[in-house]
Amino acid sequence: MSRRIAVVGAGMAAARFAERFHALGGEAEVTLYGAEPRAPYNRVLLADVLTGRYDAEAITLPSGDAALRVGAEVGSLDTAARTLRLVGGEQQSYDQLVLATGANPVLPPIRGLRREPGGLKAGVHALRTVSDCRQLAEHAARARRAVVVGGGVLGVSAARALAALGLPVEIVHQGPQLIERQLDEQAGRALQGGLARLGVVTYCGNRARAVRGAERVTGVELAGGYLLETDLVVLACGVRPRTGLAHSAGLLVRTGVLVDDRLAASAADTYAIGDCAEHRGVVHGLAGPAWEQADVLAARLSGADPDAVFTGSRPLARLSAGPLEYAAFGEVADEGPGLDVLRLTDATRGSYKKLVLRGDRLVGGILLGDLATVGAFTRAYERDDPLPREPLHLLTTLGAF
Ligand SMILES: Cc1cc2nc3c(=O)[nH]c(=O)nc-3n(C[C@H](O)[C@H](O)[C@H](O)COP(=O)(O)OP(=O)(O)OC[C@H]3O[C@@H](n4cnc5c(N)ncnc54)[C@H](O)[C@@H]3O)c2cc1C
Repeated sequence: MSRRIAVVGAGMAAARFAERFHALGGEAEVTLYGAEPRAPYNRVLLADVLTGRYDAEAITLPSGDAALRVGAEVGSLDTAARTLRLVGGEQQSYDQLVLATGANPVLPPIRGLRREPGGLKAGVHALRTVSDCRQLAEHAARARRAVVVGGGVLGVSAARALAALGLPVEIVHQGPQLIERQLDEQAGRALQGGLARLGVVTYCGNRARAVRGAERVTGVELAGGYLLETDLVVLACGVRPRTGLAHSAGLLVRTGVLVDDRLAASAADTYAIGDCAEHRGVVHGLAGPAWEQADVLAARLSGADPDAVFTGSRPLARLSAGPLEYAAFGEVADEGPGLDVLRLTDATRGSYKKLVLRGDRLVGGILLGDLATVGAFTRAYERDDPLPREPLHLLTTLGAF
């Protein structure tokens, strides 16, 4: 019998692993077990499904020759016996196991978020799956206004999508500025200005304290007592690795499932990749690193490169949101030994560029509103290439350098 690889989760990391494994000539029966009732898809594009730009089918991802079990949630694992059991009771054996269970949205400690007893109050939504997206779109079509709690990447994408659907939107964000993990203060302000032009009002440094309404949401109360009236709330307060299954199977879990540079977890022939994995103390929570990990594991398990290792990912984030598009990579802080910072702000066009250099190397940058040079910059950053021109030219050059 040929080798059997079971992949738990049929999301972005799982699909990429299966696709690469077969493309690299791997010989094994790969089975993806996915809790969602559909084939793997590109979650990053969900905001565009919400606006209607893409149909849900159009964002489906390839998964090589893998067998796909959809609507098949794995309820328990026995890593010693190498068996898994589906929630319905069916048991399957495997030789190697890949955990790619992703992450769940964090539900913030806000009073009145839930119905008693039960799930979220009517009108309150998270956005992680196509099913969440469908419910949100249905509700948005009837809503008069929306509040997004959280001003990170997901919150900004959701707010932009809801504004595109014609709703007045307010973002409540606890941090000092939008997307403070990736943008500096000036970029955050420029983004806020861009959102304002789309009809999105942002309240930074504010915390949502309570959701008002008996059966349905009627408003969001801020910590200062101010009330935002609304009939639709989207929660975008980050994600938490989905580790329950790994934890009950006795695998080592801290924030995520602990893996080494081979992406191996703490039991033999057991691996973890994507949002559920914690590598060198980092849970990435981004598609790029999830795919890099999938590529490394596919190279190892297919035999194409049995010594491939994942040593970390160079931070690179990109938001494609029409006029609000930006890319941020590497070190974006202003100060540090040996760092030179170049900036160009174009208030008329609403663009902002910042490059952080160490000597002739690009170690970080932010491009907002004008991404003409993004390909050249991110290539130079990822390959650690020396920059070929006078640094000041880089800010104004159009196209590749
Ligand atoms: C709206 C949105 C926008 C985003 N935008 C960006 C972006 O711009 N850039 C970026 O880099 N990242 C973005 N992300 C994050 C990105 O989508 C994730 O990093 C990526 O999906 C991680 O892939 P994964 O396979 O680890 O997890 P997922 O894609 O979440 O897949 C995990 C799958 O496993 C399934 N599963 C879990 N437990 C079980 C079980 N026990 N049995 C069977 N199946 C199970 C889940 O149902 C899920 O389908 C965004 C996410 C969202 C929701």
